[in-house]
Amino acid sequence: MAAVLQALSALLAALAVFVSLAAASLISRFPPPRTFAELFPAKDNPSIAEARFWAPACNGVVCFLCPRHCFLPEGGRGLCKVRMNSGGKLKTLVYARPVSVHVDPIEKKPVFHLLPGTWIYSIATAGCNLRCAACQNWEISQAYPEQAPGKTPAPAGLTLSVSPDGRMFGSFEQKEYASMTPKDVVDAALGTRSKSIAYTYSEPVVFYEYMYDTAYLAREKGLRNVMVSAGYINRGPLKKLAPLMDVVKIDLKGFDEGFYRSFAGGELRFVLDTLKSLKEHGVLTEVVNLVVPTLNDKPEDFKRLSVWVRDNLGKDTPVFFSRFSPNYRLQNLPQTPVETLTLARDIAMKEGLRYVYVGNASGHPGENTYCPKCRRPLVRRAGYAILENLLTPNNGRCPYDGTRIPGVWADEPLKPPPKAAEGKR
Ligand code: SF4
Repeated sequence: MAAVLQALSALLAALAVFVSLAAASLISRFPPPRTFAELFPAKDNPSIAEARFWAPACNGVVCFLCPRHCFLPEGGRGLCKVRMNSGGKLKTLVYARPVSVHVDPIEKKPVFHLLPGTWIYSIATAGCNLRCAACQNWEISQAYPEQAPGKTPAPAGLTLSVSPDGRMFGSFEQKEYASMTPKDVVDAALGTRSKSIAYTYSEPVVFYEYMYDTAYLAREKGLRNVMVSAGYINRGPLKKLAPLMDVVKIDLKGFDEGFYRSFAGGELRFVLDTLKSLKEHGVLTEVVNLVVPTLNDKPEDFKRLSVWVRDNLGKDTPVFFSRFSPNYRLQNLPQTPVETLTLARDIAMKEGLRYVYVGNASGHPGENTYCPKCRRPLVRRAGYAILENLLTPNNGRCPYDGTRIPGVWADEPLKPPPKAAEGKR
C-alpha cells in the first residue's frame, strides 16, 4: 500500500512539474496583455481616440458599433480587443495604428468591378469582432493592439527605373511609422500611385473611426475607398460610412445560422441585414464565399446563397466562390477541389447571377468577366494579372453588343465627400 501511495505521489509530482513547464512555455509564447497604463503611457498617444457609437450605462459603457453591443465596465475591452472603457468613455486603441500596410493589385482583395489592373493601398489594424476558424489573417485579427511591434513598415513612394534592356519597372519606397495618421495614409497612397485605399486584412469595422477619417480625406484627394469586411456592423454606423465607400466587399461565409455560429462565432442574419442595407444605400457590393470542404460545400448551400443574392441584391451583384487552403484552426481539412468551385459557379449562374467568379484558382475561366448577353470575355485575368481589358476603353460597355457592365471601369473624377458631422471627424 505504501509503495502504491509513493508511486502515486511521484506521479502527481511529475504531473505538476509537467503542467508548470507547459504553462510557462505557453505564457512565454503568448504573453498576456500588459496593463493599459504600461502600454499607452503618453497622454497624447495618437492611437487612442474617443470612439463613436456608444453610450454610458450603469457603471460602464455600451458599444453600438456592431451587433455584439458589448457592455464594458471601467478598464474593460470589447470582444474585438481594440475598444476600451477608459475613464467612463469608450476609446479606440487602434486609431492611426495600422499593423499591416501594403500596396496590392486590386484583384487580390478580390474586387473585380473597380478599376481592374490598378494598385490599391491596403491597411489593417489589430482586432476583429468575429472568430472565424479559417481566418487567413488570424495573427493580426485575433491580436491585442499592444502585441504589435513599435513601428510598422509601409510603402510611402514609388521609384521608377529603366532596366538596361529599356524596360521600365518600379519599386516601392518603404518607411517605418510609429503611427500613421489618415493624412499619412492618403499621402502614401498618392505617393505610390494607388488609385484607391482598402480597409482590409483584419476587420475594418473595428477600426471604424480610423477608416472613416481616412476615407473622408481620401475622397477629398480623389482616391476611391474599398471596405473588405465580414459585414458585422450596425445599420447606423454603416449608413454614415456608406457614402464614402466606392465598393464594399462582404465575406458571406455560408448560408446557415448554425454554421455561422460554429464557424465564425456570429449570426448570419446581421450579415444579410448589412448586405440589404448596402443595397439601399446604393453601394456597389461584391460578395465572396469561402468554400470550405465538408462545412459549406454542398450544392444546396450554393443554391440558397445564390437565390438570396439574386432576390435581395440583384442579378448584377458580383459573387465569388473562393478556394479554401488549410489554415488556422482548420489545418485538418483539404484544399477545396477546383471541381467544387466550378459546380458552385454553375449553380449560381443557373440561378440567374450574371457575374460569378472563382477565387484562388489561377487560370480558371471563372476569373474572367463575361458579357451576360453575348458571353464573350471582356476582362481576362490570370491570378492577379489582367491579360485583356475591353471595358475601360469602351466606357464599361461590351464592345460587341453595347451591354453596360456594372462597375467603375475608368478613373473619372469623384464627387466630393458628404459634409461630415461637426466634431465627428
Ligand atoms: S465593435 Fe467591439 S466593442 Fe463594439 S460591440 Fe463590436 S465587438 Fe463589442
